[in-house]
Order: sequence, then structure tokens, then C-alpha cells
Amino acid sequence: MATDARNLPPARPAPRGIGWSLLLTLPILIWSFLMFGNPQVHADRQMHIAGAITALFMTVLFFMMMRTRATYRWRRIFFVSLGLLFPVGFIYNLVLVRGTMGIPIEEMIAGRTPFCFMPIPLLILPAAFTRTLVFPGSIASNSHGMAAMVGIWLAMTLVLGKGWCSYACFFGGIEEGVAAIPPRAKIRKLDPRLRLVPWAVLLAMVLLSLALFEPAYCMWLCPFKAVSEYVAARNLLGLIQNIIFILLFAGLVIVLPFLTKKRTQCSWFCPFGAFQSIFNKISIFEMKIDKDRCKPCLLCQNACPNLSLSKESVARGETLMSCMKCGACVDVCPREAIVWHIKGTQIAWKPERARLMFLYGAWAMAIMFGGSIIAQGLAAILHIVV
Ligand code: SF4
Ligand code: SF4
Repeated sequence: MATDARNLPPARPAPRGIGWSLLLTLPILIWSFLMFGNPQVHADRQMHIAGAITALFMTVLFFMMMRTRATYRWRRIFFVSLGLLFPVGFIYNLVLVRGTMGIPIEEMIAGRTPFCFMPIPLLILPAAFTRTLVFPGSIASNSHGMAAMVGIWLAMTLVLGKGWCSYACFFGGIEEGVAAIPPRAKIRKLDPRLRLVPWAVLLAMVLLSLALFEPAYCMWLCPFKAVSEYVAARNLLGLIQNIIFILLFAGLVIVLPFLTKKRTQCSWFCPFGAFQSIFNKISIFEMKIDKDRCKPCLLCQNACPNLSLSKESVARGETLMSCMKCGACVDVCPREAIVWHIKGTQIAWKPERARLMFLYGAWAMAIMFGGSIIAQGLAAILHIVV
């Protein structure tokens, strides 16, 4: 039976009691300390302290998600910390081991750098046609390592779908942090056709990787090379590559997020994000809009950092395929119309239960994957300052 939207209270739900919030946080507390609390795991004292801080940090954020029933602002604290601490830990270790951030391109292709998930879509066609992985060589030579990587990615993808880009990506937090700085967007009118660009980049990079037999995106277009390992500029080609990386980073990760308050690199460029969108189709969770409750005020569309809602999609009660399940839309909706949803159930069937189930999976993975990176970044800082 349709609900009369005029009778619905516009207020957000009341905070949950402290006792219930603590009880709901207990599994995350145990998981956090299992991951980081064992002194045997970290011989290094700084890493041990950093692990304990990380466990506490992740547990407190989850508690706040339970207590306030809001998701986005607490997830954002984790995600921005991840984005900022990743380069710190990465560069510290790179300089420690190699004495420089500049890596010869042959070494990158051979996989003598830490694993990055970005090239995964670029591997598929070369692997299908030639039964060879073009990158990274170190994993290609180790089928067990590759199988483990694919297994972890698949498990995360089934739960998260494109939520990967909100709970697991160690790059997106930088632009999310920059987008949070200005109180208002300076550029508000954004052409919806920009959503198609990541698909074009994905197609071009997959074909180019097949033709050149090298990970074209990593070699020419990854903005995050500017804050991780860059190509050792031994000739003009290397210099051009590095200039491209720096310009893309400055434009897509700093300037445009500041002007638009959107995650522009993720929304308009990232081929891995486009690839991961496909797996929203098989993920167990999705966001849905209860059309009987929706006004529609389009506050959710304005709040979405990823251009994953349009007037038409709201009218259909759906998000677009690129939705990364960040929860910004849910937090701003004054009518509790947009909700987490488990596929196969009725819309708005116990939405808080669906949110909890999603968050347990997403947060457990965030602790395991992002938490380790945060701990490494903190340990690097402790090594430098203590
Ligand atoms: S915020 Fe979005 S889902 Fe909520 S009432 Fe407004 S248009 Fe509908
Ligand atoms: S539709 Fe909602 S959950 Fe999806 S990306 Fe946009 S704000 Fe985040």
C-alpha cells in the first residue's frame, strides 16, 4: 500500500543508545584487535603502536556510525586518512628500500613494485589472447599469489560492488578530502555526459595494453604516480610521462574536486572505477529509493560525490550503475527515502538491517585492507619523528 509522503516526519532518526551501539560495535572491536593487536605480528615497536592506534580509530568510527546512524561523515574520516597516509607509508618504504621514488619503467612492468589493483582491467584481454600477464611480472610468475589476489578481490567485490571505491581504494581519499574543504561548490553545472569518460578511458586503455603489451594506463595516465612511485626520468619520454602524471593529479585530484566538491578523478576518469561498476550488478547490496516516501527534493543528487544520481534515476527509484555506496545520499535525505537494500527483498524492508549487514562486511574489509595501509603510514611517521 502506498505511503502518503505528506505524513512522513522530515527529521533524521534519533541516535541509538550507547549500550546498543557498543554491542553492535563489539564484532568490529574484536576484528580490529585481531588484525592489529597481536604484538607477535609486529616485531617493530612503531608498527605495533601504529597498529593499536589504527584498531582504536577504526573501532571508534564504527561506533559513531552505530550511535549516530549516519555513515558518510565517519566513513569519510577513514577514507581521507587512508588517502593521506598511503603516500606517506609508501614513499617512506620506497625510499628506505631503493633510496628514491623514481623507478625504471622495466622494473615497474616486471612487478618489482608493490601490487596495485588499478591495472586489473588492463590484464584481461592480453591474458585472454596470449595467456600472459603484462603486469606485474612478479605475480605472473607466481600463480598462487595471483589466485590469492583474485580471491580477495572477488570476495570484496561480491559484498562491495563498486563500494570498493568508497571503502577499499587507497587513492580516492585525497580528492574526497580536497572536495570537503570549500563550503560550497564554485562550479555546479556539470555535464552528465562526463560520466561516460571513464568508460572511454577503460576501452582505450584495454585496447592499448593489448596492442603495446604493456599496462598503458600505468605508463601514461595514472594521476597517482605523482604521489607513489614515478617513472625514473632517464630520457625525454620519461620526463613527458611524469609531466602528464603531475598535471592529471593537479587537475583531477586537487583543482576540480575543490571547485566542484565532487570526486572528479573517480567520476570522470578512473578506468578501474568504470570496470568495478560492472560488479554492482552482482553485488548483494544496492541503494534504492522508496518512491512512496521520496518528495523529490533532489538533495541526494546534490550530495552525491560521484554523479551517481540523476533526476530520472531518482524518479525510477534507483541510483546509476556508478554508485559507490558511500551513504552521502542516505545521510542527507530528509524523508529516509533512499536506503541500503539487499537484492531480492522488498524495498525499504528493514533498511537499517541492510545497512548494518553491508557495513559489517565493508568495515571488516576496510580494516583488513585500508587499516593495514593506515597503520603503515602512521608507523612511518613514528619512525621519522620518534
Ligand atoms: S533526498 Fe532524494 S530520495 Fe530523499 S526525498 Fe529528496 S529526492 Fe527523494
Ligand atoms: S548514489 Fe548515494 S551511495 Fe551512491 S555514490 Fe551517490 S551518494 Fe554515494
